[in-house]
Amino acid sequence: MKKILVVANWKSNPSSQKEAEALFRASGKIKKQKNLQQVICPPALFLSLGKKYKKNSFALGAQDISAFGPGAHTGDISGAVLADMGIEYAIVGHSERRALGESNTIVADKVLGCFSSGIVPIICIGESKRDEGHTYLAIIRDQLLASIVGSPKSKLKEAVIAYEPLWAIGAGAVREATPEEFREVSVYMRKVLSDACGNDVAKSICIIYGGSADEKSVADFVVQGGAQGFLVGRASLVLKRWEKMITNVNNI
Ligand code: PEP
Repeated sequence: MKKILVVANWKSNPSSQKEAEALFRASGKIKKQKNLQQVICPPALFLSLGKKYKKNSFALGAQDISAFGPGAHTGDISGAVLADMGIEYAIVGHSERRALGESNTIVADKVLGCFSSGIVPIICIGESKRDEGHTYLAIIRDQLLASIVGSPKSKLKEAVIAYEPLWAIGAGAVREATPEEFREVSVYMRKVLSDACGNDVAKSICIIYGGSADEKSVADFVVQGGAQGFLVGRASLVLKRWEKMITNVNNI
C-alpha cells in the first residue's frame, strides 16, 4: 500500500526566514511514519532552508515548476534545478495559478517537466461549482485529460492528482467537500484514466484531497472517502493543527 501523502502548501507564507525556520524545525521533529509521507512546499526561496531541517521527517516540494527546460526563461525554475536541489515533488496547475492564465497546455508541459527531471507532479484538478446535473464531472474529465497530454503511462503511474474543488479552497471557501463527494470524483477520475491510459495507470495513480481539509476531517476522508492523502493550505501554517492532522492520519 502507498503511504498517505500529507502535503503542506504554504503558498506565499510565511513572510520571514525566521518564521519559516520555526515551521521547518517543528515539522522536522515529527517522527518519520511508516504509513505517511509529510511533504512541505514552501515559497521557492525557502526550499534550501528546508533542506537543513528535513532530516528524515519530510520531503520538499515546489509550488510550481517551469514548463521549459533550462534556458532563456526569466523568472522560471526548471525541473533540472529543482531536482539538483533534491526537491522531490512539485505542485502543478494549482487553481490560483490557473486563475492567472495558466492553461491546460502549460500544465501538461509542466507535468512533462516534472517527469523528465524525476520530480513527482501533484496535479491539481477541480471544478469551480457543483450542479445537480453533474456537469462538473465533464469539467473534471476534460481538465484531467488535458493536463496529462503527452505524459508517458509509465510515469503517470507515479503521479499524484489533487482533487481540489475551487468552492472548497482557501478563505473564500463555501464549505469543505464531504468524503462521499471525494469518493465519487476519485472513482470517476480512475474510470476516465482507465479509459484513456489503461488500468495500470488508473489503479496506481495516487488521488488526494484538497480544500479546507483540517485535523477533524482527515480520518473520514481516508476511511470513508478513500483519500490517499491531502493538499493543505491554511491549516498547514498553524503548527498545532498541522501536527494534529498528521497524528490523526497516522492513527487510522
Ligand atoms: C489549496 O489552496 O490548495 C488549499 C487546499 O487551501 P486550503 O486548505 O486553505 O483550503
